[in-house]
Amino acid sequence: MYKRNNGLIKLPNLQLIDKYDRRLNYLRISITDRCNLRCIYCVPDDLHRRLPHKEILRYEEILRLVRIGARLGISKVRITGGEPLIRKGVYDFLGELTKINGLVDVSLTTNGVVLKDNIKKIKSAGIKRINVSMDTLNRQKYKDITGYDMFDQVWEGIESAQSQGFNPIKINVVALEGINDDELIEIARLSFSSPLHIRFIEYMPIGTSRINTGTHLLAPEIQKRIKVLGELIPVEKGINDGPAERYKFKGAQGEIGFIHALSKHFCNECNRLRLTASGKLRACLLSDRQEDLKGPLRRGCLDSELADVFLRAVSHKPFDHNVICNQPVMVAGRMSAIGG
Ligand code: SAM
Repeated sequence: MYKRNNGLIKLPNLQLIDKYDRRLNYLRISITDRCNLRCIYCVPDDLHRRLPHKEILRYEEILRLVRIGARLGISKVRITGGEPLIRKGVYDFLGELTKINGLVDVSLTTNGVVLKDNIKKIKSAGIKRINVSMDTLNRQKYKDITGYDMFDQVWEGIESAQSQGFNPIKINVVALEGINDDELIEIARLSFSSPLHIRFIEYMPIGTSRINTGTHLLAPEIQKRIKVLGELIPVEKGINDGPAERYKFKGAQGEIGFIHALSKHFCNECNRLRLTASGKLRACLLSDRQEDLKGPLRRGCLDSELADVFLRAVSHKPFDHNVICNQPVMVAGRMSAIGG
């Protein structure tokens, strides 16, 4: 399938384009399924089912796969987890990752617990954009949601990222009826006083989280509730933007975004692939079909054979997912290993 030249495999003009003509140029990578928090909507009941170390891709393996992906048109990478910042050696890894030819955007999603102490290392590694997960402004509620009293550390982390010049910093908020729905307005109000981008995320039924699926709070309802703060003015999307619908309140420094994974599928514009902590390539977050990359990688396959796995995953990317609101379909994969 590929031409070989002095041992180098050429991947001429191959791009990751699926049968619906979507160009997949965005790879999200979970580098660990371990986390230092136990968020009620994310951590499965069976906490003990963690991946053994040998099942988790090594950094050099991830870097090799990203280099292959970049030759196939991947230009955007997000590092996530589990909690990526607790994996040993992560800062050196990030430094290597940002050097890969063809990548124009390398970002990070973190819970922010260890952000403050490491923000300079993240900056030196060449990371320009970070998302921090923070579902509440209430310290006790933060503990109830995450299992740990880490609210202050996370805010200090966000502040230190701001002082290091990260902009925008996105704050991921999973909206949950009966849990943080009473705070949506206060959270949205943050966008007036600081340049933060608040991203309201619809809860997705993934894994066996300890949450009852009756707690769906969907983007249109969130939008309706926070409109008491003023008119939400749409913000035009940039070329490298994700699926979030972006808005701004008049006079605000920051933005408000909605990830309406369930209420309004953005599948038709989905440009994502996901590499799980155990080396599986998933073409859709909400579909359990995945291709194994770790096996071929560890059997000593050529780059061209690994590229074939990318192409195969892309070839079966579903047109859309079948998870709809108020229908209790659960995706079996675990968010911590897939990365969100
Ligand atoms: N530990 C990091 C963090 O907390 O941001 C990165 C991993 S976490 C899985 C990535 C994102 O997925 C977080 O913003 C989290 O809120 C979100 N998330 C986790 N489970 C979710 C679910 N069931 N539905 C929607 N978002 C979820």
